[in-house]
Amino acid sequence: MADLHDLSVADLARRLKTKDVSAVETARHFLARGRAQSALGAYLAMDEEVTLAQARAADERISRGDAAPLLGVPLAHKDIFVTKDFPSTAGSKMLEGYRSPFDATVVRKLAEAGAVSLGKLNCDEFAMGSSNENSAFHPVKNPWDHSRIPGGSSGGSAAAVAARLLPVATGTDTGGSIRQPASFCGITGIKPTYGRASRYGMIAFASSLDQAGPMARSAEDCALLLSVMCGPDPDRDSTSLDMPAEDFGRSLDASIEGLRIGVPKEFFGEGLAPDVRAAIDAALKQYVQLGAKLVDITLPRTELSIPVYYIIAPAEASSNLSRFDGVKFGHRAKQYTDLVDMYKKTRAEGFGDEVKRRIMIGTYVLSHGYYDAYYLQAQKIRRMIADDFRQAFTQCDVIAGPAAPTVAWKLGAKSDPVANYLADIFTLPGSLAGLPGMCLPCGFGEGGMPVGLQLLGNYFQEAKLLNAAHRFQQVTDFHLRKPEGLQ
Ligand code: GLN
Repeated sequence: MADLHDLSVADLARRLKTKDVSAVETARHFLARGRAQSALGAYLAMDEEVTLAQARAADERISRGDAAPLLGVPLAHKDIFVTKDFPSTAGSKMLEGYRSPFDATVVRKLAEAGAVSLGKLNCDEFAMGSSNENSAFHPVKNPWDHSRIPGGSSGGSAAAVAARLLPVATGTDTGGSIRQPASFCGITGIKPTYGRASRYGMIAFASSLDQAGPMARSAEDCALLLSVMCGPDPDRDSTSLDMPAEDFGRSLDASIEGLRIGVPKEFFGEGLAPDVRAAIDAALKQYVQLGAKLVDITLPRTELSIPVYYIIAPAEASSNLSRFDGVKFGHRAKQYTDLVDMYKKTRAEGFGDEVKRRIMIGTYVLSHGYYDAYYLQAQKIRRMIADDFRQAFTQCDVIAGPAAPTVAWKLGAKSDPVANYLADIFTLPGSLAGLPGMCLPCGFGEGGMPVGLQLLGNYFQEAKLLNAAHRFQQVTDFHLRKPEGLQ
């Protein structure tokens, strides 16, 4: 059954439903692949018994003729989602071994749809990072070149999909963490409009930005998963939108004749590496052949999105992470003199450097005397960035550009945190505006590394993005290519 791991989610689901293959066989196949490629560092937790129990339950549902869309489909969750059946760490020593008493809403919805969980996937600590090197446990290697990073913070998810350890994984995107690792690992990922997927049980980083989404090989598979993941969660996430779940794959095959693709000039400036630019230009030409029209647009505050994001996200993080105090969850220092000393030692021991840096920046920008100068100012510019998009979407239907200025860099190459922050320039604007965004493979650059095309849509235009991506994938095969030597 060597080809099970090359099947799309859609094909696998069909074969499972017709009992061509059982959920248990499928689970065993992917568990074995995960174990065989443990050197990639993609997983933080696997538990064969738990997975096989879920697979057996899926097989029973299949025999009963249950019509759930993902029966027996294996996946794994970024370890930022809390799960009852596996430990939930957020890539942090603070939560090492932590067991949640409940499942995140997204996890629950996928389980109800019949998906079988293979475990938990590595990520940057509390999803803070662009390379996955901030995981407190171990880094993740890029399957295309083991000396390179997979991107972050959903690096484990992207690497696992690219190495075909599973057909699809969940990720989260606060400032690019689905789109950028998808770009670096040559896979497809989508982040929906802010508020479409429930944040309940997603360990909070920056609550006004955090969104869940699927990472898979194709837009078609992403659409299948996203349709299950989204929907209102009024009792548990007050920011989840009161919009019914949708079938995001409903218009995958629609023609894109006349689609107006906005090309922001700020995404093609000096900082863009020539190899990435060449792949993006070729993808845009492909879209023209498909009948789309390119429109020059401007997103004048693109550069400002870096300082704005790196004020707002740490501000929210400093507040969200105050809950990790040694009392309620996870790590507590062994030795301390009094309560305050316990807090200090617990947090000093439990958090890594990047998390501490962000807590300090966040606390600073929220403090009396600096709040107006930094936080409030950043909020105002955030609104202006959203207005720039509003303006742009009067001229175009979707926006296209690179997801990152370069291909994946070497492990250890960017030790300066600011160098990592700067590489987020193309994903941050869409995040700050709360827009849906996706990334799909569109070519190869330096060192044979994948390049991803980012597509941004107006609010609630996920189906349009997936349609545009699917049409591209019908005439190209970048999303089907495998790292050399991968079986
Ligand atoms: N790289 C960005 C950061 O470090 C985005 C991370 C994310 O989207 N979770 O904050």
